[in-house]
Amino acid sequence: ADGALRCSGCGIRLQTEEQTKPGYVPQQALEKEPIICQRCFRIKNYNESSSVTVEQDEFLKLLAQIGGKEALVIHIVDLFDFQGSVISSLQRFIGNNPVLLAVNKIDLLPKVTNWNKVRNWVQKEAKEMGLKVEDVILCSAKQSSGFDRLLEAVSEYRGNRDVYVVGATNVGKSTLINRLIHDYSDLDQELTVSRYPGTTLDMVHIPLDDGKSIIDTPGIVYPSRYSELVAPVDLGVILPDKSLKPAVYQLNEGQSIFFGGFGRFDFIQGERQSFTCFVSGRVPLHRTKLERADELFAEHAGEMLAPPSRENLANLPEWTRHEFRINKGSKQDLFISGLGWIKINNDFGAVIAAHVPKGVKVMVRPSLI
Ligand code: GDP
Repeated sequence: ADGALRCSGCGIRLQTEEQTKPGYVPQQALEKEPIICQRCFRIKNYNESSSVTVEQDEFLKLLAQIGGKEALVIHIVDLFDFQGSVISSLQRFIGNNPVLLAVNKIDLLPKVTNWNKVRNWVQKEAKEMGLKVEDVILCSAKQSSGFDRLLEAVSEYRGNRDVYVVGATNVGKSTLINRLIHDYSDLDQELTVSRYPGTTLDMVHIPLDDGKSIIDTPGIVYPSRYSELVAPVDLGVILPDKSLKPAVYQLNEGQSIFFGGFGRFDFIQGERQSFTCFVSGRVPLHRTKLERADELFAEHAGEMLAPPSRENLANLPEWTRHEFRINKGSKQDLFISGLGWIKINNDFGAVIAAHVPKGVKVMVRPSLI
């Protein structure tokens, strides 16, 4: 109606500028008819989905469309960045449709993890955020573990519904969608990406053998995640790619730990105690005196305290300080969205602080492990 070129697969308005945004099509592909966006092209030709992203407002509009349908929603989150990747407003938009919470990247936790405890923790945190979920499924797209259980749960709850997959960026949504495509659609038959006339734009419908669809929504961008702020080269540093090696520090009050030049943890007040850092193994840790920490950062950021490089640091917002008082008698994590967390091991209280670029979500939460 607005005269814009639209994808004949999903109906999205086409654009040739930004590859990670919905509707991207390479310039030269505009010459072929019918014109479809790159995401639809990949599904049609390679049986493979790839990630596209949208901002929050756009995403909420998409979610609202699910509210009026009979849907099963797979909400996929990243266990490494749980509070950063949960879509906390999901419930408000999708109505009474059932939700399966797929908690991905469990391979990042140490092998000796108590998984029942993790599952309970997830259930409790989800409830606290106002999410009602039918089931919590711990999985690793990377190791293909937990997926059988997820597919079972999908069959169990799907009934006559389409399956919508929603998630933030980098949680492993494409990996999951690709698994679903392979398990639920007939590979001998050429997959066609069919547009549902006059309904949803921006969502890719992948038809299933039984006439239903898997619907891939774009990944929502949350600017409060460190992973959204850093340069691509640093994303590879802060996103762990193998199981975390927790680093234990015995600290006296008045000591700090730098996470390269990404952030800083201060132990301000309390008895000598131990703290465990759960961050990517590629982030170098430096212990120093709190009273020297500001000066050290001013002098050595981007060099001794790196990555990020001096240049990439200049593109990040200035640090702000978040102070917390940890009460006696509770095991807590200081959580920094996208960077990891620091477990406060003892339960005799402490005053602590985090310094990270402005806008990055920092909070204290009950210990994950
Ligand atoms: P999307 O942006 O949500 O579609 O996520 P992708 O499927 O593109 O994955 C994002 C990043 O997370 C990639 O670097 C993947 O290799 C990685 N990833 C996906 N699933 C897992 C997993 O189960 N474990 C680990 N460690 N990494 C994963």
